[in-house]
Amino acid sequence: MTRAAFEALDQADELARLRDLFSLPPGVIYLDGNSLGALPKATAARVQDLVNRQWGVDLIRSWNTHDWIGAAARIGDKIAPLIGAAPGEVIVADSTSVNLFKLVCGALALRPGRRTILTEPGNFPTDLYILQGIEAWLGDQVQLRTMPRGALADAIDADTAAVVLTHVHYKTAERWPMAEITALAHRHGALAVWDLSHSAGALAIDLNAANADLALGCGYKYLNGGPGAPSFAFVAARWQDQLASPLSGWMGHAEPFVFDDDYRPAPGIRRQLCGTPGMLGLTALEAGIDLFADLDMAAVEAKGLALGEAFIALAEARLGAWGLELASPKAADRRGSHVSLRHPEGYAIMQALIARGVIGDFRAPDILRFGMTPLYLRFTDIWDAFEILRTVLETGEYLQPRFSKRAAVT
Ligand SMILES: *Cc1c(COP(=O)(O)O)cnc(C)c1O
Repeated sequence: MTRAAFEALDQADELARLRDLFSLPPGVIYLDGNSLGALPKATAARVQDLVNRQWGVDLIRSWNTHDWIGAAARIGDKIAPLIGAAPGEVIVADSTSVNLFKLVCGALALRPGRRTILTEPGNFPTDLYILQGIEAWLGDQVQLRTMPRGALADAIDADTAAVVLTHVHYKTAERWPMAEITALAHRHGALAVWDLSHSAGALAIDLNAANADLALGCGYKYLNGGPGAPSFAFVAARWQDQLASPLSGWMGHAEPFVFDDDYRPAPGIRRQLCGTPGMLGLTALEAGIDLFADLDMAAVEAKGLALGEAFIALAEARLGAWGLELASPKAADRRGSHVSLRHPEGYAIMQALIARGVIGDFRAPDILRFGMTPLYLRFTDIWDAFEILRTVLETGEYLQPRFSKRAAVT
């Protein structure tokens, strides 16, 4: 393996031109786009137009004249082809945590008499906390059950109301076989709810081919919507008129501007709206989503996995001696678009890398996480990041006390 070989991979990369659509600071190799996507160059002007012209000049008229009122559904329709959904099956609203709450509560109501929500231990914390909250709130009607990956399929039974899983695991990048698990859930009469936070915008997801019922995901990771960008929710067409939202706000009303005293849910996906959409966040998210307009998601997935493959090849060739261990599956079809390594001093190593401009992140207790974002990473970035990792390890630089100080966000 040589740097020249990695340069050749860059030259053959059909997605290489996309890097120029992002504003990336010089001297930084950004391997954290799976946690906060990079800034698209178009975003600042779009937000500025929203603020100065649409808000500043056109004021409240913009809800109609600039179709603010249609933004949540419009952006949802732009996300739909990225995740194998049909038009009208996706809407942008709220946060991922809140959408999980809405969709799981809705799913439970569709399966009266069944008590179990099934998920895996070690799922993303907010997913577990929201499910624990639902369990606490609904008392005896609901029981949250966590089953490890290997035993989960066998645990789906006649009491299971919903199987709630994250498609790509945030720590290890392990990928659930979505179609298989969904089919199993259906065979037992349960619904399948998929969290796509770590796969939307990176993998060629096909929700409808998998016959998924409900899904949701994050706008600020691979979709590049900006910090805290709104989330998206998917409801398969067949469920839309049955699935109730527990957050029956006025934007999900059939006719919000009739100002009726009584809630009547909107038909279709719009029912999953709750309150007034935040246009600042939606505008930045739309700029991120628009970059995907003409992309073949199979090619996007293939590049992310190839970057991961290159990363793993370097890791296996060089890093055993430093006590680093691969924490992600080696097989590309079982992996998402990030690669994780394990080391007892993971936190300090990551801080030393960041000090040298290689930005990944750390997930307690020992995971160093590296995002392989297909839209703006080069194969040579992976090579160069490894050279820096090698320096940090060989010199013992990470042992400096300043790299052990924990910040609030890791
Ligand atoms: C990033 C992520 C979230 C984030 O939820 P927020 O409500 O946006 O904080 C939730 N679930 C998973 C699996 C994630 O990866």
